[in-house]
Amino acid sequence: MGRWLPIRLLTWDVKDTLLRLRHPVGEEYAAKARAHGLEVEAATLGQAFRQAYRTQSHSFPNYGLSQGLTSRRWWLDVVLQTFYLAGVRDAQAVAPIADQLYEDFSKPCTWQVLEGAAATLRGCRKRGLRLAVVSNFDRRLEDILTGLGLREHFDFVLTSEAAGWPKPDPRIFHEALRLAQVEPAGAAHIGDSYLCDYKGAQGVGMHSFLVFGPEPLDSAVKCSVPQERLLPSLSHLLPALDRLEGSALEL
Ligand SMILES: [Mg+2]
Repeated sequence: MGRWLPIRLLTWDVKDTLLRLRHPVGEEYAAKARAHGLEVEAATLGQAFRQAYRTQSHSFPNYGLSQGLTSRRWWLDVVLQTFYLAGVRDAQAVAPIADQLYEDFSKPCTWQVLEGAAATLRGCRKRGLRLAVVSNFDRRLEDILTGLGLREHFDFVLTSEAAGWPKPDPRIFHEALRLAQVEPAGAAHIGDSYLCDYKGAQGVGMHSFLVFGPEPLDSAVKCSVPQERLLPSLSHLLPALDRLEGSALEL
C-alpha cells in the first residue's frame, strides 16, 4: 500500500448512487408513445431499450463523440432503435416521441433523489470534504442536479461527455483529480458499478466504495470487494470513512 494521505476529495457517481429514474424506462417510453397515439407494451419497450442501449454503446462509445455524433443524436437514435426492436418500424412516427423523451429525461421531475443522498452530501461538506461528480452522463446532468437541489454540494460536475472518456477509463478520474488538485491517495470515489466505479477509481490509486441497493450483490463481486468498502446505503459512508482513517492511524 502507498503512503497514507488524509481524504480530502470525494468523487461521486450519479445514476443509482445519488439519483434514480422515477419510473422504469419502458414505462416512460410507453407513456410518451401513448401520448402520440402509439400503443406499445412497457415491458417490450424496456427489453428493447436495454438491447438498443447495449448495441449503441458498443458501436458508438461515449455518445459517439469521436465518430461525429452529438449526445443528443446518440440518444435519439437509441429511442428510434428501441421502437424498431419493439416492432414500430415507422421512424417518422417515432421522431417526435424521441424528441419528447430527450426533453423529459433532462427534467428534474423525471428523477428522484435516493434516500439518504442529500443528508450524506451535507454531512460530507460539514466535515470539510470537497465533493465532485464523475459520471457517465451527457450535458443534461448539470441542470438535473441543480433542479433537484444537489448541485450546490459539488465543486464541479465532470461528465464523460465533457471529459471525452467514460468510466472506467482512468483518464476521466485523472481529469477529476487534476481539476481538484488532489493526489489519488487523498481521494475516494463512491458508485454502484463494480467495473466503472469501484475498479475504475481503484485503478488510478484512489480509495473506492461500492454502494449496493436492496438486490443481493453478485457473489463474485462480493468476494472481491473488502467488507469495509461495501456500502449497503449511503448512510454507511461517513462511518466507513472514519474506520478507514482510524485504521491508517494504527499503521
Ligand atoms: Mg451508477
